[in-house]
Amino acid sequence: MQVMQDALLLLKRLRDAFSGAKLPRMSEKTLFQKIMDREEPGDILYEDDLCVALRDINPQAPTHVLVVPRKPIPNLDALTEDDEPLVGHLFVVAQRVAADEGLADGYRTVLNNGPDAQQTVAHVHLHLIGGRKMTWPPG
Ligand code: 5GP
Repeated sequence: MQVMQDALLLLKRLRDAFSGAKLPRMSEKTLFQKIMDREEPGDILYEDDLCVALRDINPQAPTHVLVVPRKPIPNLDALTEDDEPLVGHLFVVAQRVAADEGLADGYRTVLNNGPDAQQTVAHVHLHLIGGRKMTWPPG
């Protein structure tokens, strides 16, 4: 029994050590899943079988939308070949939302992966940012 408890503790420590973005427990819904399931409030602009587009709560530009797959993939490193069409779909939806938002002069798409990139929500999401002139390189 002690061996099992030690193994569990080790697993928890490994999870915390390797996740800059705090990983939810296996059974726990991510923040974005809760918004999709209408358990948390969210300004949803678009949704289909594969993804949801919602306004970011802390917008970095006049338009700041998150395109989130329904599948709770924690980060880019966890993608598999099976996810290739899904990732393409996120970009097509971003394009559609950008057109709806009138971003004719351009926009930026960003996918933060891991602690160095400041990923804070462990559920893959594409940021669609526009409506102002951007600078490069990003901070
Ligand atoms: P990340 O830092 O992981 O790339 O992006 C997470 C994004 O989720 C941030 O831009 C943050 O403002 C946004 N966010 C965090 N909490 C909420 C929330 O409760 N609702 C919405 N709509 N966006 C959120």
